[in-house]
Amino acid sequence: MTFRELGLIEPILGALAELGYERPSPIQEKAIPPALTGRDVLGCAQTGTGKTCAFATPILQRLNAESVQGRPIRALILTPTRELALQIQESFEAYGKHLKLRSTVIFGGVGQAPQVERLRKGVDILVATPGRLADLYQQKLLDFSGLEIFVLDEADRMLDMGFIHDVKKILKWLPPRKQTLFFSATMPAEITELVDSLLHDPARVAV
Ligand code: AMP
Repeated sequence: MTFRELGLIEPILGALAELGYERPSPIQEKAIPPALTGRDVLGCAQTGTGKTCAFATPILQRLNAESVQGRPIRALILTPTRELALQIQESFEAYGKHLKLRSTVIFGGVGQAPQVERLRKGVDILVATPGRLADLYQQKLLDFSGLEIFVLDEADRMLDMGFIHDVKKILKWLPPRKQTLFFSATMPAEITELVDSLLHDPARVAV
């Protein structure tokens, strides 16, 4: 199987080739095709399996297909730690280097001013940790009314780290009609409940 056979477009194929990616990993092979069609995806996968590319490339391709001027945030990726958030945003930049989509990252523990400034300029893709996201939303600095795609990354770690309450609060701020890509290494009962309430007929992918 090649990335081309998964249905990815030329500018993304070029970026992947430049990064030295030769073949899709199993999670990429299974998750990219349904995600590209707009289907919800439930991925049972850990860090290191290539799951970032599995959700980032379909997001880039879907947002690129239709340009919307002056619209608010179109894709949101929620992840538990600052390190993961930074890595994910770097991945969006790398896979999307030949596209014109704008991404940024917000996380706690640092001043909010530079993050707010970047948001004001407009972003298509926002990568965030739950605490800072909730903070900025409550200050009315984030607009999710145009959100098209939502990713919940490392859902079980959100639970372990005590972020699940924040996550559930954030979910209520997102529009009901959107594509959701949900990743968790394990599926404890509380995560299964969240999956059932959040996902519609998802493609189930386990690696
Ligand atoms: P992730 O599981 O998303 O954190 O990715 C783990 C690492 O694998 C990252 O350093 C990626 O750049 C790399 N990677 C992801 N997919 C591929 C691929 N298909 N070929 C080579 N490297 C990859």
